[in-house]
Amino acid sequence: MIPKSVKIVEVGPRDGLQNESKILPVPERVRLIKNLAEAGLKQIEAGSFVRSDLLPQMSNTDQVLAELNLTMGINFPVLVPNMRGLDNALAAGAREIAVFAAASETFSQKNINCSINESLDRFSEVTKKALDHGLKVRGYISCVLGCPYSGTISPENVGYVASKLNDMGCYEISLGDTIGIGTPIATQKLLASISSDIPIERLAVHFHDTYGQALANILAALQMGVTVIDSSVAGLGGCPYARGASGNVATEDVVFMLDGMGIQHGIDLINLITIGKSICTILDRPVMSKVSLARSPTGFEL
Ligand code: MG
Repeated sequence: MIPKSVKIVEVGPRDGLQNESKILPVPERVRLIKNLAEAGLKQIEAGSFVRSDLLPQMSNTDQVLAELNLTMGINFPVLVPNMRGLDNALAAGAREIAVFAAASETFSQKNINCSINESLDRFSEVTKKALDHGLKVRGYISCVLGCPYSGTISPENVGYVASKLNDMGCYEISLGDTIGIGTPIATQKLLASISSDIPIERLAVHFHDTYGQALANILAALQMGVTVIDSSVAGLGGCPYARGASGNVATEDVVFMLDGMGIQHGIDLINLITIGKSICTILDRPVMSKVSLARSPTGFEL
C-alpha cells in the first residue's frame, strides 16, 4: 500500500535554521523560503514566535512573514510556544501555527520546563484561540522512538499525546524521531498503534538521519499509508544531541527516493539541490544531502 502522492513539509527555515550556529538576517531567511516555494514546496515552516533571547536564530519572524504572500496557496506555519507567541503570530498575520509536546516526561521537563500534561493544557488553550481565529494548527510530538534521557518510549505514551493533540483540534500530527534511533519495524509498530485512534492521513513523520535510518523509516511509513513527510533542505539543523551528526533528513534525499518510486510530490529536485548548496555556503556548513554530494561539481545532471 504505497501512496501515489505525498506532501513534503519543508522544515529547514525553522527547525533547520534554529539549530544552526550562524544567525541569518531576515532577507536571507525570506530568500530561502521563497526559493523553496519556487522549487514546488507547498508547506514551508517560516519561523518561530519564541523569545528572541532564547532563540536568536528565529527573531523577527514577524518581519519574515511580512515579506511572504500568505494567501498564495502555500502554507507558512510558524511555531508557537505559548499564548504570547500566538498573539504575536496573529499580529503578524500567520495563517497556521504549530505546537509541540514530547512523548517523554524527562524530555518535556528538560526541553520546555514542564510536564507533558502541563504542556498539553497550555497548548489546548493556545489551539482553541488559534482555531477561534480561523488558523490551522499542526501538532508536533518529539521523542516518539526514543529519548536522549530516558531511552525507549512506548507507542502508548506517544498515542496518549497524539490523542490529546487530535482532540484539541490539530489537523495533522507530526511524529518526530528526535534522536534518530528509530528503525523500520519500530516505526511500523508505532504507526500501527497510533493509527488505531487517529486516521493515518492525519499523521506525518519527522525523521532525523542521525543513525542513518531516516529513508528506511520513511519507506516503512509509506508502506503503512503515511502521506506526509517532514524534511529539511540540505539536512539543515544538525543534531543537538551529537555534535557533527546528522539531524533532519535532507529533502533532496527524500525527493530522490520518491522519484525512484514513482510517487508524486511536485518538487523540482535540481532546483532544490541548488538551493541546498547555496544556503550551506551562506551558513558555512557542509551539505548533508547524499544526493547533493553525489552530483559532480561540474554540474552533471542526475
Ligand atoms: Mg527536526
